[in-house]
Amino acid sequence: MALVKWVPTTCVYCGCGCGLLLEAAGGKITKALPQPAHPVSDARLCIKGWNIHQFIHNEKRLKKPLIKKNGSFVEADWNEAVSLIAEKIGSTIKAYGADSTGFLSSAKCTNEENYLFQKFVRSVIGTNNVDHCARLCHASTVAGLAGSFGSGAMTNSIPDLEQSKCLFIIGSNTTEQHPLVATRLYRALKNGCKIIVADPRNIPISRFASLHLKHKPGSDIALINSMIHVILSGGLMDKEFIDARTEGFDELKASVADYTPEEAQKITGLKKEDIVNAAILYSKNKPSAIIYSMGITQHITGTDNVRALANLAMVTGNIGKPGTGVNPLRGHQNVQGSCDMGALPNLLPGYQAVTDSSLRGKFESVWQCKIPAQNGITLTEMMGEAGEGKIKSMFIMGENPVVTDPDSTHVAHALKSLDFLAVQDIFMTETAEFADVVLPAACFAEKEGTFTNTDRRVQRVRKAVNPPGEAKADWEAINLLASAFKAKGFDFKTAEEIFDEMRSLTPQYAGITYERLERESLQWPCTSETHKGTPVLHLTQFTRGKGKIFDIKFKEAAERADDDFPFILTTGRLYFLFHSNTMTGRSPSLNAEVNRAFLEINPADAEKLGIKNSEYVEVESRRGSVKVKAKVTEGIREGVVFMPFHFAKEAANVLTGRHLDPIAKIPEFKVSAVRIKKS
Ligand code: SF4
Repeated sequence: MALVKWVPTTCVYCGCGCGLLLEAAGGKITKALPQPAHPVSDARLCIKGWNIHQFIHNEKRLKKPLIKKNGSFVEADWNEAVSLIAEKIGSTIKAYGADSTGFLSSAKCTNEENYLFQKFVRSVIGTNNVDHCARLCHASTVAGLAGSFGSGAMTNSIPDLEQSKCLFIIGSNTTEQHPLVATRLYRALKNGCKIIVADPRNIPISRFASLHLKHKPGSDIALINSMIHVILSGGLMDKEFIDARTEGFDELKASVADYTPEEAQKITGLKKEDIVNAAILYSKNKPSAIIYSMGITQHITGTDNVRALANLAMVTGNIGKPGTGVNPLRGHQNVQGSCDMGALPNLLPGYQAVTDSSLRGKFESVWQCKIPAQNGITLTEMMGEAGEGKIKSMFIMGENPVVTDPDSTHVAHALKSLDFLAVQDIFMTETAEFADVVLPAACFAEKEGTFTNTDRRVQRVRKAVNPPGEAKADWEAINLLASAFKAKGFDFKTAEEIFDEMRSLTPQYAGITYERLERESLQWPCTSETHKGTPVLHLTQFTRGKGKIFDIKFKEAAERADDDFPFILTTGRLYFLFHSNTMTGRSPSLNAEVNRAFLEINPADAEKLGIKNSEYVEVESRRGSVKVKAKVTEGIREGVVFMPFHFAKEAANVLTGRHLDPIAKIPEFKVSAVRIKKS
């Protein structure tokens, strides 16, 4: 009988960062269970966690490097594959310069892999053109909260949300997308907490809300500014906090005077009484916490949306205490960590600006290289420039932009336009199909490292079984690639060695060691080996000193409903599935729950169009069209329709556009004008 071992590790799906115990026997993962007494998941998992072992040994896992020859992939050895990548990217650099290359890291990879990837791009390739999927989900959080508070991260801890007396949940379907955060919200509810939900759809937690604001997609700033208007007019602000801890209040006060509930009613489609009640509930039931996710961030005003929420927290003094805060729920399990590790075109690890010569110098002396002084371009800009023939070569680690990026027809065009594309992944994804070279990667259960979850908690990832065939951990592949470029400083033998180099350069992580993580749960900043970590940020002062109150004005979305395209499409995720479904789509249990896309439409809209439940409809935007089954439901407001984006066939992102927030460069996934007809 095979020896059974239990390996504690961290879930690879959402940003909750639940603790798993993987059962391994005979070189296979046979079961996943929750870790008892885990600080986030508290002996629970969601359905994705319970079934996480089901994709790991799927027969379609990539096992050998592949090189495309005459249009078909043929197996190769690692030396041949990485040499070809070095040769092709090397010739692009020689012919067009390093900035003609683009590199996508991944929030599915570990901190160590993200650190090493951006080090490779900056020190070996010589460009800052490195980015990852945070650009598509929370780039506006990083930009918005860094501007307001000096730190672009969740201010509070998941467990302390239980202490809130009011939860303002806006643009987050927490029960489905962050189930183990939602557990804390339901516990707060049981303790008498009031819940305000702002979302154009019915979501599971809206049934328990004191108030459900079904506002129009893209009208968040009008709603938030109007709540601030009501708070200021009613004397419900925290004047002491505003005076002592913030700057910029007077400009905001003057500006929100225009956002009366009557005016906001016209923009949001809400009743003015509901806006007043939301303001009163939020400001009078302290401590109040704001929870948000991509319903706030994925707009051309994403950064302003985040800053408006920060304003709301600051004017009521709901920040810097347990049970309060501005709490972005990050999508992937390691999107916080990938940002922390500097997989961003403007920031080195620890949010240290690449344009600052003294900060750059610190990295240059350890890495023994010159780092380019100017910011690189973002993921969304890379796809644009690839489509125009300016980016010539790309390397994509663990991402699937063909399914997840806006305007997928354009993404396919951009990838086809490249001279050379290499992809590193665990399966042959829709993106890998376009590649010239594909490298087989180990999954989370086959390697060592760390993930950082949405509440800044750094947690160990542990190897339970060997990867299939010749697949390698992404960090090992980067080491090999660097050696093909004859680079020095990439001879790491373990993930821990990479972590130790990273923490020597990243003040927030300086005090975190693998040894401490064996016995402690640590949230950054943790600046020395005696520092206990930081569950709540901004206790006595903001990271930037005073909190910055921005004067934010409402702007219309890039697309509006009109006679040609009379509906607004909003997209999102489902409880059972994750991202582009490469992993969850290979889990029989999860697939049995849902395996097709659908279009949610209000019964009044369906009746006008003569559409019945489960009939096929054609949804068309200015980018393309998709045929999908209608799901007629009262759960969505009239004039708005919803599609999940997980599916490569019936792909919602064929419909979405490339309109970007001017600061964060995040696309406006949440507002696309569409028309619908019976198929
Ligand atoms: S998907 Fe999220 S909530 Fe579910 S087990 Fe994994 S980390 Fe926890």
